[in-house]
Amino acid sequence: MHEVHEGCGIFGVYSTKLENVALLTYYGLYALQHRGQESCGIAVSSGDEFHLHKDVGLVQEVLTEKAIDSLGFGYMAVGHVRYGTTGNSSRANAQPLVIKHLKGSMATVHNGNIVNAYQLRQSFEMEGAIFHTTSDTEVISYVITNERIRKPEIEDAVLSAMDTLEGAYSLILMTEDKLLALRDKHGFRPLCYGVTSDGTYIIASESCALNAVDAQFVRDIRPGEIVVFDKNGVHSIETNCNKAEEALCIFEYIYFARPDSVIDGCSVHQARLRAGAFLAKDHPVDADIVVGVPDSGIDGAIGFANACNIPYGVGFIKNKYIGRTFISPVQKMREELLKIKLNPVSSTVSGKRVVLVDDSIVRGTTSARIVKLLRDAGAKEVHLRITAPPFVYPCYYGTDIDSQKNLIACKHTVNEIARIIGVDSLGYLKAEHLPYLADDTGCRKYCTACFTGEYKTNIWGGMHKDYFEAKTPIKTTEEIARQFQHTVKPDG
Ligand code: SF4
Repeated sequence: MHEVHEGCGIFGVYSTKLENVALLTYYGLYALQHRGQESCGIAVSSGDEFHLHKDVGLVQEVLTEKAIDSLGFGYMAVGHVRYGTTGNSSRANAQPLVIKHLKGSMATVHNGNIVNAYQLRQSFEMEGAIFHTTSDTEVISYVITNERIRKPEIEDAVLSAMDTLEGAYSLILMTEDKLLALRDKHGFRPLCYGVTSDGTYIIASESCALNAVDAQFVRDIRPGEIVVFDKNGVHSIETNCNKAEEALCIFEYIYFARPDSVIDGCSVHQARLRAGAFLAKDHPVDADIVVGVPDSGIDGAIGFANACNIPYGVGFIKNKYIGRTFISPVQKMREELLKIKLNPVSSTVSGKRVVLVDDSIVRGTTSARIVKLLRDAGAKEVHLRITAPPFVYPCYYGTDIDSQKNLIACKHTVNEIARIIGVDSLGYLKAEHLPYLADDTGCRKYCTACFTGEYKTNIWGGMHKDYFEAKTPIKTTEEIARQFQHTVKPDG
């Protein structure tokens, strides 16, 4: 039950024979739906022309049988699910983004957020460019096309564009005869590829989408790498690899990705178990039962329970059938809405001292409602454990962790947060554990900026001017670290 949203999920198919690539993409997007629920779409290349269908809505709402049929058979396809973090959620911002240029056509799907989009767009507009959307993906397409006009091959254009684009971008680009998959130099967002038994290549944000179409995982695409799929097979361009410090988003492991995915060689499920175990060690508590908030708190709860020998129990049942079209409630009905989405299992929690594990607290309002549900179901005590450190800085890399004015940890101490949420104690994951979540050697580098303030790129302050309107003074990393070291009980 979350207040944080990921930007997008992307999927691509390359085949040497004419086949129902749209249907494969549909299955892949279904598996990636958790990464974005606002809009979705598929573009298919039949060799000489592109067919596109996209709209606002869930995969099952937009990509109907009729829509898939209308796309026809093809050699390549790209697909996208979107939760907008730049630009609004209109149909115009839905992807794939298909453009025609002097040398042909290109369909783009993008996961991430480029931090210099605002500046690039302004400079193009000063030269007379006209943009049709408010999304940074159009800026990316523009930069690549601008290079393409001067360069002999799309690969050369993309290589040059990577020197201009700053920030997070995992991309799949489809031209008339090639599919290109690439990750930015830091590798903020995941991307991997696999192959089916009949030799069709599949590219996806997460390995769970390869499994959905029965493709064998081949490997993750490296930060900075461009992988080209064409009639000559698969080849890799590594010119931009090792040019910047790796910075996969650590929150992919904590919340964004599906637990059955493996990202950059590390299991998401295992990472969440480890987070729970760290919490049990750092913030132990006498309790009768450990429950998790579905879905991403479940693995952490199991990890916590295993580490401290307290039984794990199913504390909530989540309604899986609530779609985007669910009628939004008026303010006073919000608690009832939560009950429809999430119902506590009173036989698990009634009369018990409950450890509740969740992945994050953003504004605190959802957490407070969840705690109230447990109390109403008879929980005697509620001890909240969070499998991430507190959010104290905005994310500029493709999620909606926004201005500090909305982050409860920027405005309140842990004691105050515990009291506001209504828990008996509150403990966050210590930031020092982040490097050890996915890979227990601690050797890999991640982006942890929303927890630590350590951004791996220039953040081009002018782009997200809203972020800088927060009235709350920005705390230093040391202040934050001191504040969140300990399990706390609310004052009074
Ligand atoms: Fe992920 Fe946070 Fe970095 Fe954004 S700032 S990419 S959410 S770790």
